[in-house]
Amino acid sequence: MLSPIIIHEQFDIPSGVLRVLDVLEKAGFEAWLVGGCVRDHLRGLPPKDYDVTTNAAAGQVIAAFDGFRVIETGIKHGTVTVLSDGMPIEVTTYRVDGEYSDGRHPDSVSFSADIKEDLSRRDFTVNAMAYSPSRGYLDLFGGMDDLGAGIIRCVGDPSKRFGEDALRILRALRFASVLEFEIEPATAEAVHLCKGLLDRIAVERITQEFFGLLCGAGVGDVLRNYRDVIGQIIPPLQRTFGFEQHNPHHDSDVWEHTVRVVEAAPSDRILRLAALFHDIGKPHCFTMGDDGTGHFYGHAKISEEITREILAKYLRTDRKTEERVLLLVAIHDDRIIPERRIVRRRLSKYGEETLRQLLTLKRADLTGLNPALAADKFRELDEVQNILDELAAESACTTLRSLAIGGGDLMAMGVPKGPLIGKILNLLLSEVCDEQLVNSREPLKKRASELFQYYNA
Ligand code: ATP
Ligand code: MG
Repeated sequence: MLSPIIIHEQFDIPSGVLRVLDVLEKAGFEAWLVGGCVRDHLRGLPPKDYDVTTNAAAGQVIAAFDGFRVIETGIKHGTVTVLSDGMPIEVTTYRVDGEYSDGRHPDSVSFSADIKEDLSRRDFTVNAMAYSPSRGYLDLFGGMDDLGAGIIRCVGDPSKRFGEDALRILRALRFASVLEFEIEPATAEAVHLCKGLLDRIAVERITQEFFGLLCGAGVGDVLRNYRDVIGQIIPPLQRTFGFEQHNPHHDSDVWEHTVRVVEAAPSDRILRLAALFHDIGKPHCFTMGDDGTGHFYGHAKISEEITREILAKYLRTDRKTEERVLLLVAIHDDRIIPERRIVRRRLSKYGEETLRQLLTLKRADLTGLNPALAADKFRELDEVQNILDELAAESACTTLRSLAIGGGDLMAMGVPKGPLIGKILNLLLSEVCDEQLVNSREPLKKRASELFQYYNA
């Protein structure tokens, strides 16, 4: 369901931004707000940042902002950043892109005296509007109508625009997902037709747009309608498309199940990535029982391996994201029995943040199952969640750090410095997690001394 969009006429612009426009106009140039900030404002959302476009050349911009801090962000492309009232504002000279012979970068960038040329090189109609406090809105390509109708449409001929810069294909999907817009039919057709050009685009640029797409509210429809494009940038996903599961718990193929899990996961990069890849190993370990039921024994481990390859080859993530996603994928199918000792052991093993992410992923995974058979599993997960909340509220000891005695205490008891200290402390922690031992000094010391005698004998 698309939410109706209200066009907000009153543009409440922060003073720092107004100053930049004003300085340029007073110096005799034209200056407009352009792109994402105009779009977001018209949707009634606070813009993330403000971009200014002007007929002043970069050198003239620098001269006009004498006394301001100016950073030469991309002089070659006509961009400088002005710090105004503490806000960094990108000011770019009107541009026309030259020929694109490689489908990635214009061979040359030239500057223009006409805002119309600058707007025509922009990707989508909703991103190609300009606003100036003195002149109002400039909407040459029907951006307002498309914004009102929730439509992503290329400026100009879609295939030509995608041929110039194939990243725009993925940007179309990203905006469709984030804004929950539909891609207009001719643009959509060109998206499917031109997707092969994405092979020329650097992994870093793909990753950035793809993460935006994945975290958008409309991700489900984009993954469903443009799975060919997703398969183009992440080929190992292709085997899940249409892969039937032959299992009563699943009323959909692996890809549709995956999409439901991604949709059900919160808009968080780690969780959405883990959701996207959690079952990618399934087609690689499918077996059918005598009764015709499909099984996927060991699929989580295979999913982890394939995910590792994807994160090395097709997407660029930081180390923490990678490690966390791999762990979540690897353990997503481990059953957690709702017993205090078991939950406490998991808490000790993974830490609270990861365990909570795991439970969130598991919950999303259940949403992707046949609802008739998921109720018991939801109940079990609720119980695990309650136990976890209880343990967290008690600040139950689950780490060596929160154990009531430490290495110093053991040495005072005569345990020699060395590996035995760690061994005894870990045993104590495991007995505390198993709730065989309370986490207070005296019982811990007593037990430590027993363990020491045992190992010393
Ligand atoms: P967001 O709010 O997500 O940053 P945005 O519209 O500001 O959205 P950016 O990627 O920051 O998106 O780009 C700023 C503007 O530059 C866009 O609105 C668009 O007009 C133009 N633009 C960016 N990338 C391209 C591209 N590859 N081809 C054509 N125009 C582009
Ligand atoms: Mg932006």
